[in-house]
Parts: sequence; structure tokens; C-alpha cells
Amino acid sequence: MKALVYHRSKHVAVEERPDPRIEQDTDVILKVTATAICGSDLHIYNGFFPQPRPIVLGHEFMGVVEEVGGEVKRLKRGDRVVVPFPISCGACWFCARGFPTQCETSNPAHYGPEGALLHDKGGGLFGYTDLYGGYWGGQAQYVRVPFADVGPRKVPDGVSDEAALFLSDIVPTAYAGLKWADVKPGESVAVWGCGPVGLQAQRLARIMGAAQVIGVDIQRYRLDMARRFADSQVVDASQVDPVRVVRELTGGRGADVVIEAIGMEVDRSILQKVSNVLHLQAGAITSVERCFSAARRCGRVSILGVFGTTYANFPLGQWVDKGLRVQAGQAWVHDYIDDLMRLVMDRRLRAEEIVTHRLPLDRAPHAYQIFNDKQDGCVKVVLDPWA
Ligand code: NAD
Ligand code: ZN
Ligand code: ZN
Repeated sequence: MKALVYHRSKHVAVEERPDPRIEQDTDVILKVTATAICGSDLHIYNGFFPQPRPIVLGHEFMGVVEEVGGEVKRLKRGDRVVVPFPISCGACWFCARGFPTQCETSNPAHYGPEGALLHDKGGGLFGYTDLYGGYWGGQAQYVRVPFADVGPRKVPDGVSDEAALFLSDIVPTAYAGLKWADVKPGESVAVWGCGPVGLQAQRLARIMGAAQVIGVDIQRYRLDMARRFADSQVVDASQVDPVRVVRELTGGRGADVVIEAIGMEVDRSILQKVSNVLHLQAGAITSVERCFSAARRCGRVSILGVFGTTYANFPLGQWVDKGLRVQAGQAWVHDYIDDLMRLVMDRRLRAEEIVTHRLPLDRAPHAYQIFNDKQDGCVKVVLDPWA
């Protein structure tokens, strides 16, 4: 099969690789019909997450079931499904309690309670380094899907690939941030980052009844997308102090809810880059600092962006003084995907409107480059493995 293979920082290539095979009776093999590149893939692409050997990337994908393991009950050959990015066994202590990203079964080599740098991670993720199970991802013509009765969701006829694809990650992720923060009708929601995740959070905040939605970014074209896609008020953080503006827009107090959707690869100063080396940090927590400042006292902050290491000068005192409620983590996709499928089916959510590039899988290296470098108006790329 053809697959997008990560080799080393900034080096990915489309190559011939062996087709995946059923390894456990609970697996299916999926023929991938649509797959996307995520901001999370960029952390690997840019070398923030180490990956010593080649791996097929991709955790946002959907397709048609090609082959079914002997114990799979819910799926049959020919079913069209979208697959959550976390690999959940559905049966362990955490999966049984609704925490699919902390699965105790799907990442046997690196799972543990500590959650610290370079060891002891949570459950497996598709195409997301050896630390998260070493599973080959879905930026390929075929992918092996373990625990196939737990993750994949059938896509109803009439729902296009593109409309369903983002239920694999960015839509449930954005929704998780809003649910964790308990957004209520009439509230104000500020979203740091107008990438694919931040944009979906803004749109979903509207659907959940937020009276005021504010999008913050440093890329003009992404702010324009936020205005169009979610009818957001937008703040260009490359031009103004975004915390000051968000406070001005929210009666001086700050927003009821702030969603962090940038992560450690926030635009950094030279000083921060030097500090990173000195403190063995990857990237910076500037966006978290801004989110804590922009939230009102006793407001709620959800951190959706990915942070890999420990960080100096974390604003713990501010968190305590303001009495913030903070939740972070990989999204519990399995818990939300069915409700969100209904929103997609009745067209209240048209998540695919953020797609700016549709390319054959062969062009994936170019797609990574423009998505990473914010070139050519790139917001979200969908790849076709068969074009
Ligand atoms: P993205 O990289 O396209 O979006 C990040 C946005 O932040 C960009 O638009 C960028 O211009 C903006 N930005 C950078 N520096 C900024 C600054 N100083 N001020 C304001 N904006 C700034 O990525 P994405 O796909 O939208 O993902 C966003 C984050 O969410 C990533 O860290 C990704 O890894 C993470 N993520 C987490 C989960 C989860 O389960 N928690 C799932 C998917 C993605
Ligand atoms: Zn993702
Ligand atoms: Zn489990």
C-alpha cells in the first residue's frame, strides 16, 4: 500500500509499505477513503515528540471495512466507518469509566501512572509515535484498527466522507473542551487559536448557546475563517494585546470560559527558545498564561493544546487566586462522538467548511509543509489515498 511515513524532523515521504494484516481477532482492516492532517501531527513533524524509527502517521481517518477479525461483532465487510483517534479497549478500569484516552490495555510497552516525559504514557493513539503504542496511522491506503467493536462508528448514507471525517478528532476534541468547561447558554467563550480545533470550538460554542464567541490568533486568514465559520468576534494577537481586548469585550472581567487550542508550538520569542534549552522544555506555555489571564475570576479553562514536558514559571498562584477550574487532556472522543454524529446528520454542524485543501496522498509532504508554515491559506487538508 501507499503510506505517508515519518522519518525525521521535517522529513516525511509517501512510500510503498506492506499492507496491514489482522493481528488480533478483534481487529478490522480499513480501506481508508479520507484522511486529514492534524495540528498534533505537526508536533511529531517538527521533532517535539521523538520518534526514532519510521512510522506511518495519521489519526484522523475514515473508510470502508475491508477485512474483519473472527471476534468482531458490530462490523462487517463493506461498512463505512469513522474511527476515533484514541485506541480504547472498552473493557479496562479506565475505559469502563468513560476515559478512553487512559486505556490500560492499548499501550502495553509505555503505559503507566506517572505520565511523565519519555515514559509512562496513557493509552494508544493511531500514528502517534512509539510512546503511544507505535500503531501505524491512517494517512495510508489501509490501516489496522484494533478493538474494532469499541471505536469505529458507522456513517449513515447521505453523510459525506468529509462531513463525517472530523468526528475522528477535531470536532469531539473541541466539544470536549466546551463540555469540560460546562459552557452554558448566554455565556462568553474565548478561544485561543483559530486552527482546526479552535474553529470547531467556536462553532460548537455557538451551537451550545454561547452569547459571545471570541477567536484569537496571529494569522489574519485564520481569523477571517473564524468570522465566517463561527460568526466570531476576532482578535489579532500579532497586533494587539489579546488579553486586554478580551477583557474589554467582556465587561472588564474576562470570559466565562476560555479554550486553549494552540499547544506548545505557540509562536515563541528568542528568549523563550533559549529558556527551552536551559530547562529541557519543548515549546512554551504562553498560550496557557494568556488563557488564565483572559478568564474571569472563577472562570473555566480547558487546555486542548498538547504540551509534552514540564515547564518553568507555570502560573499556579494566578490559578489559585482567581479560583479557576481547569481541565486538560486528550479528548474522550468515544463519549461524545454519537451526539456529534447527530449534529452532523441534521447539518447543524458543517465541520467540513474549514477544509481549504483537498489533495491526493502523494502530495502529503507538500501538505505538511503548507499546513505547518501557514502558507497558501491552509487551514485544513484532506488527503485522498486513492486519487
Ligand atoms: P494548528 O497548529 O493549526 O492551530 C494552532 C493555531 O494557533 C494556529 O492557527 C496558529 O496561528 C495559532 N497561534 C500560534 N501562536 C499563537 C499566539 N501566540 N497567539 C494566538 N494564536 C497563536 O493546530 P490544530 O489542529 O488546531 O490543533 C491545536 C492544538 O490542539 C494542537 O496543540 C494540537 O496538538 C491539539 N490537539 C489536541 C487534541 C486533544 O485531544 N486534546 C486533539 C487534537 C488536537
Ligand atoms: Zn488530531
Ligand atoms: Zn481500555
